[in-house]
Amino acid sequence: MSAIPVYVPTLQADKNDIQEFVRFIYKHEQLLKEYGAIKIQLNIDCNLALKKRRTNLLTPPISTYITKINKDYPIYSVERNDNNVELIERNSLVHDEADFWTSLSCLNNKQRQLNTSLMPNTSLFLEKQSHTRFDIHRVPGQSLLKLAGRAAVQKYTPCLKRAHEPGAIFPLTCTQQHLFSLDYHHEGGVHFWYIIPHSERRALQTLLDKQNISACLDHGKIFIDPTILEKYYIRYHRITQSPNEFVVLSAGTLSQCFTMHASYSESIVFALPSWIEEEHASISTASCRCDIPHDSLSITCDLNLFTRDLIEEYTTSNLDNVINDDLDIVTNYDTPMTAMSTPCNLDHNSLHGI
Ligand SMILES: [Zn+2]
Repeated sequence: MSAIPVYVPTLQADKNDIQEFVRFIYKHEQLLKEYGAIKIQLNIDCNLALKKRRTNLLTPPISTYITKINKDYPIYSVERNDNNVELIERNSLVHDEADFWTSLSCLNNKQRQLNTSLMPNTSLFLEKQSHTRFDIHRVPGQSLLKLAGRAAVQKYTPCLKRAHEPGAIFPLTCTQQHLFSLDYHHEGGVHFWYIIPHSERRALQTLLDKQNISACLDHGKIFIDPTILEKYYIRYHRITQSPNEFVVLSAGTLSQCFTMHASYSESIVFALPSWIEEEHASISTASCRCDIPHDSLSITCDLNLFTRDLIEEYTTSNLDNVINDDLDIVTNYDTPMTAMSTPCNLDHNSLHGI
């Protein structure tokens, strides 16, 4: 591995930073690009516009499972299994990160359920609140996406993500149109993220090609044991995300995650000028053969609206008036031991009863 730290940097945001969240992220874009992601912790003065009562969230986990691709190789494919229940192994308690990966490597020809569900266009944030309270719905409209017009921005809505049990899995994905994304952990167990920066995508693709693994990297079709990335010198970074923490993913980043316990989290996409300038926006999905609803691939905006002049104007008036503040970075290492010992801040019943 290179000398770059394994864990992504953690930044501290105050109430002014989260009111202008996109500008805050832009200020740290170099770090974000280098690591593929950053973690943001909130000062105590930050006020989030969160719903108090949570109803209608009784979604079952999707009936999707992971299977080891071959006996000697800890890479897992993600498939549906509607019939063959004998093959399914129950999830068990996860004691730590190593324990999780060891138990997966013993799957052999059995399958394990992902135990996650996604609820598009669902949020635990309140809309249209005072501007002093952070609302995740506002993020796309604060970002470069605003150049696409109000109607286009409104199509970019939050997606609520639920982990139903310990050891739930969110397999490898890249955001729609390779946009940036912001992920907020509402409650439940720690999330263990593995971040593969955009610059490492080609190396990962080459590795999979050599192993004759044809899975799409973008749409949750594969889950990779990090020891494989280490073995083949593919740079990746870790994050342990606890409740009330944000994870920001850079454009084109590949990420996967598992959870220590049941949890709720939520994400939304947005854009910075580099999304256009570095050609993430025009990435073709033509090679993707995934059986996913066409709608989710086709939320697009007209890229012709993002002219160089308009991008410059947006940058000058929305992003550049940044006040220098070197105190944002609290640490480059968020040690696994600290994160592992963070107590789960809810009792399990409250999640299951929602
Ligand atoms: Zn795909």
